[in-house]
Parts: sequence; structure tokens; C-alpha cells
Amino acid sequence: MSNILVYVLHYEGEFNKNSLGAVSEAARLASELGGEAHAVVVGEGPELTDEFLAGLGRYGATKVYRAKGPEGLAQPVVDAMAKVIEDNGHAYALFGGGLLGFEIGAGLAARRKAGVTMEVTEVNVDNGELVASRPILQDSMVSESRYKGDLGVIIGRLNAFEAAERNGASVAVEDVDVELSPWSTKATMVQRGEQRGADVNIDDADVLIAGGRGLGKPEGFEQLEELAGAFGGAVAATRAVVDAGWFPYAGQIGQTGKTVAPKLYLAAGISGAIQHKVGMQNSENIVAINKDSNAPIFEFSDLGIVGDLNKIVPKLTEAVRAKKGS
Ligand SMILES: Cc1cc2nc3c(=O)[nH]c(=O)nc-3n(C[C@H](O)[C@H](O)[C@H](O)COP(=O)(O)OP(=O)(O)OC[C@H]3O[C@@H](n4cnc5c(N)ncnc54)[C@H](O)[C@@H]3O)c2cc1C
Repeated sequence: MSNILVYVLHYEGEFNKNSLGAVSEAARLASELGGEAHAVVVGEGPELTDEFLAGLGRYGATKVYRAKGPEGLAQPVVDAMAKVIEDNGHAYALFGGGLLGFEIGAGLAARRKAGVTMEVTEVNVDNGELVASRPILQDSMVSESRYKGDLGVIIGRLNAFEAAERNGASVAVEDVDVELSPWSTKATMVQRGEQRGADVNIDDADVLIAGGRGLGKPEGFEQLEELAGAFGGAVAATRAVVDAGWFPYAGQIGQTGKTVAPKLYLAAGISGAIQHKVGMQNSENIVAINKDSNAPIFEFSDLGIVGDLNKIVPKLTEAVRAKKGS
């Protein structure tokens, strides 16, 4: 039977949304393979009750392996997953992406001598096996991977898999005794924080404030968040800044990101490349702020503001707040 194993990250009594996306994707694929989706959860605190873990059933998991160990660090999770796979013979391990998913997936592939595919955007079942699709050559082609051997490791792009609730399966919780490798306890967690915009939901927003390389640095997004907050909208981004690690992929607009059509699309520091345009050109109103009056974005904007976004965006935020009386 082809069962799929997923690692589920949790923090302060909540499951990580990206991990839940991997669980529901695993459940979808497992049902086509005639197998089941199982999860590994690692932690030391009292919060990992049977009841809490049973919540993964809503996303399609039928079994949860509970392992004792430090949560949020890669190597202890590699130990736990390797042990579960060794004992139960899972055919695939699936990760939702993100830095931790990349690190655990790579570690697991090395440990189990398995094939691994990263930055996967789609997984399908063909002839009773999983086929992972991954954009390559600057996203101009798509490569497909199949797996030889006992285990295939698939790591999605961040938020590539949607956390969709399924008809809640009943969940069996099983404790696993894991012996941590000596090197697994060398790193300790110093501080945990949330990645900016990791759970952005740009699909439903009426107002999108999108930022590009013209922001100059990741912190440039803070002023866009202020403006989006004033409007009651959400923040989005170009691929250039997503690739630079300034903003999560979930917020990328364009050919290799999302296609949106909000009432207002405000582009700050975005040149307006064709690959970006295809993802936002159907917006009702397009406003662009760019210091270069020849920037292509002005060719398809309803309103163009030529100037430095660092001066204009804060003033705009003030004006919107004043208008809304907040
Ligand atoms: C196959 C393929 C797929 C792609 N898919 C996507 C995709 O899905 N989405 C996407 O967005 N791109 C995609 N790209 C990349 C795309 O071609 C562009 O490189 C990208 O959109 C450029 O991002 P940008 O506008 O943030 O950066 P840039 O092109 O570098 O533009 C930055 C802009 O900021 C302006 N600026 C600088 N400082 C300031 C300031 N202080 N105030 C105001 N303005 C300022 C500059 O004048 C410039 O116009 C893809 C490319 C390829 C080849």
C-alpha cells in the first residue's frame, strides 16, 4: 500500500497552515493511490494531546505519529520521520515547503538514500505512482520527477498546496520512540517568530498593495503593510522580491504566481514586466508608483504616480486613514 507521510509543524497550540496544505494534498494523492495520509508531529510540551492531534483528521490524515523531541528544528524531525518510515514502509514523504521543510526533506532523502524533488508546484498520480512537477530554467519549462526505490521525497514550494478541509477521517494516534542522533541535539531553538506574510491570502482581497524590487530591501514591505492595513487590503509581490526572499511565494503575482483581479491594485516599485502583467492586468483599477516615468507599468495603469515610493506611500497611508477616520 502506498502511504504518504507528512511532517506537521505546530506552534502555540496551532498547526502550521503550510503543513496542513501538505496533509490535505497527501490525503488527495493517497486516496488515488489506494493508500493513506499519515502525519508526524514532534514536540515536548503537554499540548500534543490526542484531541489536538485528531484535528489533523479534518485535513484527511488517518494516523498521527507523536514523537518526543525539540519542535521546529530539522534534525530531530529527520530522526523521527526516518524511524517511522523504517518501521512502516511509507512510499512517499511530502512537505509543504518553507525553509524547515527543505531542510528536513533534504536530510530525510540523504538518510534514506531516496530521490528528492524540491520547489514542486504540482503532484499527480500516474500509473499508480506519484509524479512531481517542478518549474525549471527560470520557469520556462516544467520537469517531471518519478521515483525509483522505496521512498520518494517531494518538497513543495511554500504554500503550493492548499489547506483544504476534507470529510474528517478518524485519526489513530501512535507514540513513537525515537532515538535522536548525537548531532540532532546540537542545535537549540533560541527564538521563534512568524515570517512576514507567510499566510497571506491575496485571492479574496479587494485591495492589493504589491511591492517590487523598488522597495530596496525586505523591510520596505512594512510601509506597504501599513497602507494595506489602512485600506483593509492585503500585500502582494513580484517574483523578483519573492526570489530574493523578501516575501513568501504565496503572495507572488504573475505568470508563475497567482492571477488576481481586485478592485484596486497598487503597484509600488514594480517595473511592469509582461510576466507580472499577466497576473494582474484584469484588476479594476491599477495605480502605479514608480520613479522612472518610462517604466512599462505606466502603459497599463489607470493612474500613474512618478516619484519615490518611500515618500509617497507613507503620505498615502496618512491620507487613507484620515479619510476613513482611523
Ligand atoms: C519564465 C519567467 C516567469 C516569470 N514569472 C514572474 C511572475 O510570476 N511574476 C513576476 O512578478 N515576475 C515574473 N518574472 C520576472 C519578471 O520578468 C521581472 O523580472 C519581475 O517582474 C521584475 O520585478 P520588479 O518589478 O519587482 O523588479 P524590477 O524590474 O527591477 O523593477 C523595479 C522597479 O522599481 C522602480 N523603483 C526603484 N526604486 C524606486 C523608488 N524608490 N520609488 C519608486 N520606484 C522605484 C524602478 O524604476 C523599477 O521600475 C518571470 C520571468 C520569467 C523569465
